[in-house]
Amino acid sequence: MISRRNALIAGGAGVVAVGAAGVYQAGHDKAEPPAPPSLDAQGHLLWRNWSGVQHAYPASRAAPASEAELAALMAKAQAPIRAVGAGHSFTGLVPTDGTLVSLDRLTGIAGWEGDEARVWTGTRLGALGPALAEHGRAMANLPDINKQSLGGAMGTGTHGAGKTLRAIHGDATALRLVTAAGKVIEADAQRNAEIFNAARVSMGSLGVISQARLRTTANRRLHRRVWAEDFEAACDQAEGRWAQHRNFEFYAIPFTGMAANISHDETDAPAIARGPDTDTGILEILRKIRNLLGFSTPLRKALGHALISTAKPEEAIDEGWKLLSTERPVRFNEMEYHLPVETQIPALKEVVAAIEAHRPDVFFPIEVRRIAADDAWLSPFQGAPRGSVAIHAYYKDDYAFLFTLIEPILRRHGGRPHWGKLHSLKAAELSALYPNWKDFLEVRRELDPEGRMLNPYMKALFGV
Ligand SMILES: Cc1cc2nc3c(=O)[nH]c(=O)nc-3n(C[C@H](O)[C@H](O)[C@H](O)COP(=O)(O)OP(=O)(O)OC[C@H]3O[C@@H](n4cnc5c(N)ncnc54)[C@H](O)[C@@H]3O)c2cc1C
Repeated sequence: MISRRNALIAGGAGVVAVGAAGVYQAGHDKAEPPAPPSLDAQGHLLWRNWSGVQHAYPASRAAPASEAELAALMAKAQAPIRAVGAGHSFTGLVPTDGTLVSLDRLTGIAGWEGDEARVWTGTRLGALGPALAEHGRAMANLPDINKQSLGGAMGTGTHGAGKTLRAIHGDATALRLVTAAGKVIEADAQRNAEIFNAARVSMGSLGVISQARLRTTANRRLHRRVWAEDFEAACDQAEGRWAQHRNFEFYAIPFTGMAANISHDETDAPAIARGPDTDTGILEILRKIRNLLGFSTPLRKALGHALISTAKPEEAIDEGWKLLSTERPVRFNEMEYHLPVETQIPALKEVVAAIEAHRPDVFFPIEVRRIAADDAWLSPFQGAPRGSVAIHAYYKDDYAFLFTLIEPILRRHGGRPHWGKLHSLKAAELSALYPNWKDFLEVRRELDPEGRMLNPYMKALFGV
């Protein structure tokens, strides 16, 4: 399917794009470099995030092998003390010139209480799937990728797609928090309830969470379907599909007039193998069309529409933990806001129109999801379900437009930012979005009066 599309691009677009396109392309078609380096130009070891926009030179790095070791470390570690999972956040949550604490040696299932699993928070979501499946259980939902640690995913309110499915922290029923003073606190809805409400989504600002107790579901097979559709039709149908499917999301594809829908539903039908990854090939095609026809939106739209509308639907059947997450080999920077459900589609349409009017360099699809409510104080889904809109910029491209062009639209529609993805909000704006903002700050101050858990980015975030 992809090679046929590549041929179409080479043939169709090539003819119309000679000359003018060559000039447009020159600025974009650089060779793909390897992952951002772990050593700087002077040979010094640095820490950096997945996309390469955040980096730091921690004075020390620690990976305690037990909760007792973690507690002892916290009491004497050089501030700022910052926990790190997989480094997949885009915002400045992790960088520190003090102590970087990795939970990479605190992994796996520590025990069971009924169907709830006590999990070490250094566990990567990709490792948790098979570990739970051994017991016939699964996480109810997963994000787009499964490289994140449980602690990092909870820390930023990481979520998947599904109207009735909560973000990952929404399935945590208890946790163990190791404070900056090295005290271990067990918290749930009854014991230390205020700490439980504050800590579930806390970006490592109250201490380090060593374990969380998670609700699990039966490990069912899911039927995954992917199909293309006109963008306007996808917007019209979305509400019904969120109601109809266990998991549903769609991607609006700017400059094509098209969208890609993805649904997952429980089934007992026999497995159908998932085909090879086509996302990466499609992204590469969209990038090529941008490079060739970015100078002419009508030509670009005509070709993009023709190619995406002929894409063959895909399907697969397998256990949920094998299907819900995919690979993201093409790096990007990202902004995602969580909107009141009634403003989600109007905001999306404005975002697509703004990109098509002002940003011919953008080629990444825009992800549109629905997430169920929970009651963690700093959860973007606190109090009501939310509809998310996520905009990506290829990591080699300028992403400043996310702040200047996109963020004002998402804010005007009442959005709350994803804590791990690019946004410009600080304490003044955030306090207006979260009814328990002051309660959170009070619990934070009590647990860490000297602010040892805060780096400069987080001080600005919390107005400390
Ligand atoms: C390719 C890609 C795809 C993504 N897909 C999605 C998606 O589908 N849905 C979504 O919602 N997000 C998504 N994200 C965002 C990502 O899930 C979040 O940024 C998440 O926090 C990353 O987890 P991590 O383990 O890398 O955490 P890190 O980025 O390392 O840390 C995140 C925060 O958690 C804190 N933290 C980490 N461990 C602990 C702990 N044990 N105790 C206390 N605090 C801790 C850190 O201090 C930091 O503040 C994606 C990101 C990328 C790069």
